[in-house]
Amino acid sequence: LRPQPRSKHDSDRMKRVRRRDTSAELRLRSALHRAGLRFRVDRPIRRAPLVRADIVFVTARVAIFIDGCFWHGCPLHATESKTNAPWWRSKIARNQQRDRAADELLGADGWTVLRFWEHEDPAESLLTVRRVLSRRA
Ligand SMILES: [Zn+2]
Repeated sequence: LRPQPRSKHDSDRMKRVRRRDTSAELRLRSALHRAGLRFRVDRPIRRAPLVRADIVFVTARVAIFIDGCFWHGCPLHATESKTNAPWWRSKIARNQQRDRAADELLGADGWTVLRFWEHEDPAESLLTVRRVLSRRA
C-alpha cells in the first residue's frame, strides 16, 4: 500500500522525511565500516511475510533497522501534520505495528533485532552494535 499524501504540503513533507531517513542510515553504515565491520545492506531476511532489514550481519544473525523519527513515531520528534492529522496518525500506527510484528517474527527465527532512531548518535549506535556482535560471536 503506497502512502497517499493528500496535499502538496504533506507531499513535500514526505520527501524531506525520506531523505533524512536515508542520511541517518548512511551515517551509521559509515561508522560501522570505519570500525572494520562488514555487513549487508537492505537485505530481505525473511519470507512470508517478507522482512527486509536496513543493515544485516548474516552470520551473527543481527538485523538492524534505522527508524525515521516521523514515520515510526519517535517519542521525541514525532510531530503532528497540520493537515490530515488522522490519516498520518493511522499511517504511523500501522508502521509501528509492522515494526513490532517484524521484531517478533525475526526473534522467533533466532535473529537479534536492533532498532535505532534516526536522531541517535551513530557513534553510540556503533558501540551497541559491537557489544551485541561480540555476544553473538
Ligand atoms: Zn527522534
